[in-house]
Amino acid sequence: MSSPSSSLDKILAINAGSSSLKFQLFAMPQEQVITRGLIERIGKQDAIFTMEVAGKKIARTHAVLTHQEAVEQLLAGLLDHHIIHRLDEIGGVGHRVAHGGEAFRDSVSIDPAVLAKIDDLGRLAPLHNPVNAVGIRAFLHALPNAKAVAVFDTSFHQSMAPEHYLYPLPYRYYSELGVRRYGFHGTSHKYVAAICAEQMGQPLASLRLVSCHLGNGSSLCAIEGGRSVNTSMGFTPEAGVMMGTRAGDIDPSILPFVAECEQLRPADLNRLLNNESGLLGISGVSNDCRDVEKAASEGNQRAALALKMFAARIRAVIGSYIAQLGGIDALIFTGGIGENSRSMRAAICENLSYLGISLDQSRNNANQTFIEQPSAKVRIAVINTNEELMIARDVMRV
Ligand code: ADP
Repeated sequence: MSSPSSSLDKILAINAGSSSLKFQLFAMPQEQVITRGLIERIGKQDAIFTMEVAGKKIARTHAVLTHQEAVEQLLAGLLDHHIIHRLDEIGGVGHRVAHGGEAFRDSVSIDPAVLAKIDDLGRLAPLHNPVNAVGIRAFLHALPNAKAVAVFDTSFHQSMAPEHYLYPLPYRYYSELGVRRYGFHGTSHKYVAAICAEQMGQPLASLRLVSCHLGNGSSLCAIEGGRSVNTSMGFTPEAGVMMGTRAGDIDPSILPFVAECEQLRPADLNRLLNNESGLLGISGVSNDCRDVEKAASEGNQRAALALKMFAARIRAVIGSYIAQLGGIDALIFTGGIGENSRSMRAAICENLSYLGISLDQSRNNANQTFIEQPSAKVRIAVINTNEELMIARDVMRV
């Protein structure tokens, strides 16, 4: 945290969800966090507004009925606590947008045509793009002079080749309906790849990386020369590796089979795949990795099995990406689990030494940035992701 200074360019990074709005205010280009906060339970009489003020967290509960109100209260909060003195100190607002489809290969300055396209892409991301667009409109209204930039979760992966983004369905499902792999978490994969190269002291352009973003939602990304060449999430963020409550990839014919056996409708199947599966579904304990690890350490066999499956499915993807990349220079762990779970990192790296990936237990336990054995060919990096900073950087770049 730093004290605000009006001589700095202040940039807001915004992550709007259906009932929440997360924000971070940066001084750029110094990349100092001036404040951060969250408005939760938007739409309710007892919404909660939390914000850091002079190093302390303040929290208020009161009605916030719309995203427009949330934005107004956030800006009023910044003024009331003298974090800013005038609204025009905020030079830019970067918005996390879930889906950029094939239209956006990079972050863009928002104009009416871009906003219309984000609305249109709500077809592919009905739970996310519409709320992202509501957040954008609210800020355009409140801060008409600030530069507005959209940063898409999908755009980093637009560099994938067709053989990696197409599904072997009849081609018209791609050409007419846009059914293909898009991938998500792009901002995070891009950020940790850049930091990893910096920490290795090598140009990103020379590196073959596999990035593992492991949180409630998890995805892997194969990165060659700083470009995404494959990623495990697909048409939706439900695909790929096992997650907290999501199954990830399964035999597709399980769905019609289960639907018929239990008379399930598409909405039931979505709930099954999204909310009832993954670590939660197998362990029966929790979607939260900490809870599952605790249960496993107390002898819960299904919790132990859930963790083994989680690691095994990630390891399988790592292997396939190394095959695609023709080798690997560094494996990156990030996200809540990747950054914090030593045991999960160790489990994932088990049996990979024939590929040059050998984890050093003492470095891993000491939470060092590089945790490979000194003689290992492949670096293993633990890097804290920072999607908000990446958004602020993109506002400056765009
Ligand atoms: P999201 O995808 O919601 O952004 P995060 O990246 O914050 O999620 O990751 C949340 C996950 O990280 C949870 O499963 C949580 O249990 C796990 N996690 C956080 N800290 C630890 C820890 N010390 N050990 C194991 N898992 C952890």
